[in-house]
Amino acid sequence: MLRRGLLAVGESRVARKVLTDAPVSRSVARRFVPGASVDAVVGALHELEEAGLAATGNYLGEAVRSPEHTRAAVEAYLELLDRIEAGAHDANISVKLTQLGMGLGDDLLRENVARILDRAEAADIFVRFDMESSEHVQPTLDLFGELWESERRGVGVVLQAQLRRTAGDLQEMIRLGARVRLCKGAYAEPAEIAHQKMRRIRKRFREGMARLLSEGTYPAIATHDERLLRATLAFAAREGVPPGDFEFQMLYGVRRDLQRNLRDQGHRVRVYIPFGDNWYPYLVRRLAERPANVFFMVESMIKESKLGMLWPGSRALEDRAP
Ligand SMILES: Cc1cc2nc3c(=O)[nH]c(=O)nc-3n(C[C@H](O)[C@H](O)[C@H](O)COP(=O)(O)OP(=O)(O)OC[C@H]3O[C@@H](n4cnc5c(N)ncnc54)[C@H](O)[C@@H]3O)c2cc1C
Repeated sequence: MLRRGLLAVGESRVARKVLTDAPVSRSVARRFVPGASVDAVVGALHELEEAGLAATGNYLGEAVRSPEHTRAAVEAYLELLDRIEAGAHDANISVKLTQLGMGLGDDLLRENVARILDRAEAADIFVRFDMESSEHVQPTLDLFGELWESERRGVGVVLQAQLRRTAGDLQEMIRLGARVRLCKGAYAEPAEIAHQKMRRIRKRFREGMARLLSEGTYPAIATHDERLLRATLAFAAREGVPPGDFEFQMLYGVRRDLQRNLRDQGHRVRVYIPFGDNWYPYLVRRLAERPANVFFMVESMIKESKLGMLWPGSRALEDRAP
């Protein structure tokens, strides 16, 4: 499968060096990441607000190896929370626990998460724990469960339709009354624990969506897949689930036409805005989701090199924005 291959290549050091050094990577990354600073996110927030779209901000970074870097991530989130509150923006934040110290010691992780949650709670801003690769799923849900036990309610999780365990996790989150974002799953996982066929992943997604819309607490349906979006709209209409009971979520720079279309139909759409310098892993996952983007990048890299003289014509990166 091309997607799996691209995700595997993306892990290699050589690929990282080649891709991060190539100027075209930066320009492609800019399509998905509005900038490095909190100012850049706030700029994107204004742009989205004018379009009637809500947002969630994510400071790029994962699998952070030093406590200093985890604290720098906390500072970035605290600054973003301040700016969201000051501007009364319709926005919240999405954090990755491996950026906040998961794997570096429980005390560090708990301290970092508590600092973010304290500030977010004071400003009444919701915090989502993004879901990372499968080895992090149980630790993420464990920490979430602990926080829930201690009456932290302004926090929610993400479940990935591709994982075989997800139906059970979904049931538990519904039982708790926790807010779930449902997505397909962006990581290459082995067949023992994850469905590999898109048909099966879509089926699991539709089942999860139906359960969340019927029994869940303000779920988020995160996909650009038109079949799944149509299935969600049809289910909501058939079962009489009002638009205010759930939201759609999509990524910054991806299918802006659909974002606006759903908004025009009266639905709430939240756009995930990543920011920061550490865009490489995020870019690789976005490229893997859409091989046409890889062809565009390879073509541009060849054009930038001496071989470019031999390269005929040009294709444009797909952009269906109105
Ligand atoms: C708001 C949000 C939050 C997410 N959070 C997580 C998370 O916490 N953990 C996790 O594992 N995954 C997360 N994901 C990623 C998700 O798991 C999928 O990898 C991703 O959304 C692609 O799947 P899709 O359902 O959009 O369908 P796809 O079948 O991949 O895409 C459907 C169509 O959307 C368009 N499209 C999709 N991706 C791109 C792209 N990169 N460039 C251009 N067009 C594109 C294309 O037209 C494509 O045909 C998140 C996704 C969203 C939208």
